[in-house]
This record gives sequence, structure tokens and C-alpha cells, in this order.
Amino acid sequence: MAASLSPTARTTLHRSKERGRSAREDLYAILDSGVICHLGVVVDGAPMVVPTGYGRLGDTLYLHGSTGARSLRGALEDEICVTVTHLDGIVLARSIFHHSVNYRSAMIYGRARRVTDPDERLAGLRALSEQLAPGQWDTVRPPTRKELAATEVLALSLAEASVKARQGPPGDELEDYALPIWAGVLPVRMSWGEPEPDPELSERLRTPAHVAARPPLGSLPQKI
Ligand SMILES: Cc1cc2nc3c(=O)[nH]c(=O)nc-3n(C[C@H](O)[C@H](O)[C@H](O)COP(=O)(O)OP(=O)(O)OC[C@H]3O[C@@H](n4cnc5c(N)ncnc54)[C@H](O)[C@@H]3O)c2cc1C
Repeated sequence: MAASLSPTARTTLHRSKERGRSAREDLYAILDSGVICHLGVVVDGAPMVVPTGYGRLGDTLYLHGSTGARSLRGALEDEICVTVTHLDGIVLARSIFHHSVNYRSAMIYGRARRVTDPDERLAGLRALSEQLAPGQWDTVRPPTRKELAATEVLALSLAEASVKARQGPPGDELEDYALPIWAGVLPVRMSWGEPEPDPELSERLRTPAHVAARPPLGSLPQKI
């Protein structure tokens, strides 16, 4: 796929266009440093936005869930929109009007495809698992036939996507800079806590390194 995001009529930014990013690498960076996405679908004629997991392989995003999930059924009937958002800071301005947030976000539009090929289904599920908990797939019991049969896997092309990001201090009105009001950015960081072993866990089992020493996720705003 082209190295840049080629805007379509619906991925062309109208507001704050200067915050748009056109490099496909920026899209990958946002997706790869996220944990959940929001899936927007139309179900029975009404919009439904569902927080859910995802995984990326190349230029395909994978979503999964129960075969009974209404959102996934709806996703196969019409166009969908998926967003991934990183909140990097609260921007505190001298006027309430100019308060803002620093962020990196991606929006992807398209038609989802039901994944039926067994190898692609497993690869998609593995990508989902790696996104949520890197290293787990290879250390836990693999899915059974029955579990796989109960799982829907959808694929969404990253062909039609947009990226937007804000960084930096507030942009106040010139005359407001002289006001005796504190202004700046309160950064937001996501960090992992101390692992909490399952009370049912044998005392002999140590927390694996990929859990105990998981690198901070999205902890630093990336320069995109
Ligand atoms: C955490 C967070 C909080 C925000 N809070 C506000 C708020 O309170 N009020 C507000 O007006 N805006 C807010 N924004 C910005 C908001 O996401 C939109 O960018 C903005 O509202 C412009 O919307 P629009 O309807 O005019 O879109 P348009 O500019 O018309 O959108 C056209 C196309 O641009 C792309 N696009 C638009 N926004 C984004 C985005 N954020 N990320 C990736 N692609 C995008 C999409 O492809 C979209 O179809 C926030 C963003 C984030 C990440």
C-alpha cells in the first residue's frame, strides 16, 4: 500500500487541518501503541459505538468477538468506522474557550470482511492477542475447535484512514497572555500497575517476564 494516506472525500480533515498527518507510518504507530479501539457500526438503523480489542497485520486490522455479537453482525452489513485514540495531555489555557487536549488519533473507514480461512483466522486472533497482551499467545492453552467456532473474526483494510494529532502548549488570544492565569499542559501517561496473581494460582508459579516487565504503552507522546 502507498506510503502515504491518500485522503478520500470522507477522510479529508475540515477542522484544524494542520493537525492532520499523512504518513502511513504515523497510522501504524498510533495503532501499534494502542490497546483498544472504538468500533462504530449501524445496527438496525441506529449508530452503535463499541469499545473493543483489535490487532494489526500489515494493512489489515482484525476485530473479533462472539458470533452472537450484534455489533459484529452489523459490521458485516454496512460500512464501519474504527477509531484509536491516545490522550497525551490536558491543555489548560487562559480562557476556557482555548482549553484543549493533546492527542494522537486515527480513524479508519471501510467494509469489514468475515475471515473464514482457518490460517488467517488464527493469525488475526494472534494479532489481537499480541496487541492486548504481548507474549501470551505462545504461553497459554491455544483455542479449541469449539472456542474457535464461537468466535467471529473480521478484517478491515487500512486503505481509507486518517490521522490527527495535537501537541504543544495552549494557543491563547494574544491579549490573554498578559492575564495572571496559569496555563500549560498537564501530561497524561498510561502505566502498568503491579501484576495481581490470581488467588487460585499455585505459589510455585512466578509472574512471567512479558507480564512483569511489560514496557510502558503509549507512555510518551510520539513525535508524529
Ligand atoms: C481525546 C480527544 C478529544 C477531543 N475533543 C474535542 C472536542 O471536545 N470538541 C471538538 O470539536 N473536537 C474534539 N476533538 C477533535 C475531534 O476528534 C475532531 O477532530 C474535530 O471535532 C473535527 O470534527 P469534524 O466533525 O469537524 O470532522 P471533520 O474535520 O469534518 O472530519 C473529516 C474527516 O477527518 C478525519 N478526522 C477528523 N477528526 C479526526 C481525528 N480526531 N482523528 C483522526 N481523523 C480525524 C476523519 O477521517 C473525518 O471523516 C477531540 C479529539 C480527541 C482525540
